[in-house]
Amino acid sequence: MASKNMEDLVSLCKRRGFIFQSSEIYGGLQGIYDYGPLGVELKNNLKSSWWKSMIYDRDDVEGLDASILTSRHVLKYSGHEDTFSDPLVDCRNCKNRFRSDQATDGKCPACGSSDLTEPRPFNLMFKTTVGPVDDGSNYAYLRPETAQQIFTNFKNILDSTSKTIPFGIAQIGKAFRNEVTPGKFIFRVREFEQMELEFFVEPGKDDEWHKYWVDKRYSWWIDQGISEKRLKKLDVEDADLSHYSKATVDLMYEFPHGVEELEGIANRTDFDLGSHSKNQEDYQIDAKVIKNNESNEKLVFTDSETNETYIPYVIEPSAGVERGMLAILNEAYNEEVLENGKKRTLLKLKPHLSPVKVAVIPLKKNDEKIVSYAKEIKKKIQGLNIGRVVLENTGNIGKSYRKHDEIGTPVCLTIDFDSLENNSFTKRDRDTMKQERIDIETLIKQINKS
Ligand code: ATP
Repeated sequence: MASKNMEDLVSLCKRRGFIFQSSEIYGGLQGIYDYGPLGVELKNNLKSSWWKSMIYDRDDVEGLDASILTSRHVLKYSGHEDTFSDPLVDCRNCKNRFRSDQATDGKCPACGSSDLTEPRPFNLMFKTTVGPVDDGSNYAYLRPETAQQIFTNFKNILDSTSKTIPFGIAQIGKAFRNEVTPGKFIFRVREFEQMELEFFVEPGKDDEWHKYWVDKRYSWWIDQGISEKRLKKLDVEDADLSHYSKATVDLMYEFPHGVEELEGIANRTDFDLGSHSKNQEDYQIDAKVIKNNESNEKLVFTDSETNETYIPYVIEPSAGVERGMLAILNEAYNEEVLENGKKRTLLKLKPHLSPVKVAVIPLKKNDEKIVSYAKEIKKKIQGLNIGRVVLENTGNIGKSYRKHDEIGTPVCLTIDFDSLENNSFTKRDRDTMKQERIDIETLIKQINKS
């Protein structure tokens, strides 16, 4: 079962410390969120899982952490300065502003008036001044996607790692878009994180690699706990393709507010490397690029066997961390009615994503011996490097179980008087609520095996 509505998720996220509205004590900043003690763990776990599958589990992808502040030249030749905009209309009646595609039948979605301005493009990039003089010429952008600095570093990475085609460069990091209509909780925000891979291939082999990455990314989301029922592949129609794309498949997820894009997998052709290259006329570039007289690098690859030099094509799987989190929380959210008629809320997160892996709970919060034994156990398990382990010293076992069910902790360990005698404790499973008596060695073996 997934959550039935967004309100359940928003309320759980606030109550338990996953997600807060940013600058809330001053009324908040629209479309910007902060991630609390559990949110940061869930995010980090999701990003680690992606990084592992993209880099550690393969031999053909390298990582990168490029700057957020981006030279305007990069975003000029990427096409963002000219095309990264939404058409906006203003309602002369109620003064609201919205994206023109929201004005169904030419009517204002807020008041229904037809007295609207003509659509005007609105650039989604945040501009900022770099350096001490603010005379309007020293500006840079906060990157609207992590991809562009991967392209500008193509040669650096190629030369420093001696990779050959096909190979990829992966990056996780913040991106910023001044969205006209942020909303749906963390679905559409102005500051977010992307997990992007740019996978460089030989022209002509791009279609098969595109298909490969669509399937690979689909099954990765299933491994994160997303149900096949709610995740569909959508071939984006030609008319809706971005300026750089030959073909795009969107992974569409059934969010609580509707079916929308979770990740896009695009065949960006030779547009990006071709756009950022000097001496473009020396190479065959299939994409329509603007002439570049400002770059000082040729972003090309020379095949050492054939001696052929060409501009590779690129396949890009691009996923949002926040949309991933929202989908995963939605999938994991469960409400059960227990035999005693009480309601139990639990997050059935995959253990590798759970913010807390194990909670160690002393039966009596003021019993020195029990508490210090519990601390010892906590330290031992923490030493296994499985992620966060907490000592939950509230003295109320029922309350602690309820809390850890709600935040998705897979295992709770209760330390009691018998523990002091025989080094064993009660292990409770989140999903089945089954309890078993177990000793530390057995538990460590189980953790190491999983
Ligand atoms: P949409 O059509 O929903 O605005 P997009 O097609 O502009 O999305 P891309 O440019 O393909 O999105 O970005 C890749 C991924 O980055 C998206 O699939 C999404 O997961 C994430 N993303 C993009 N914009 C936002 C945003 N404003 N808030 C949160 N995540 C975003």
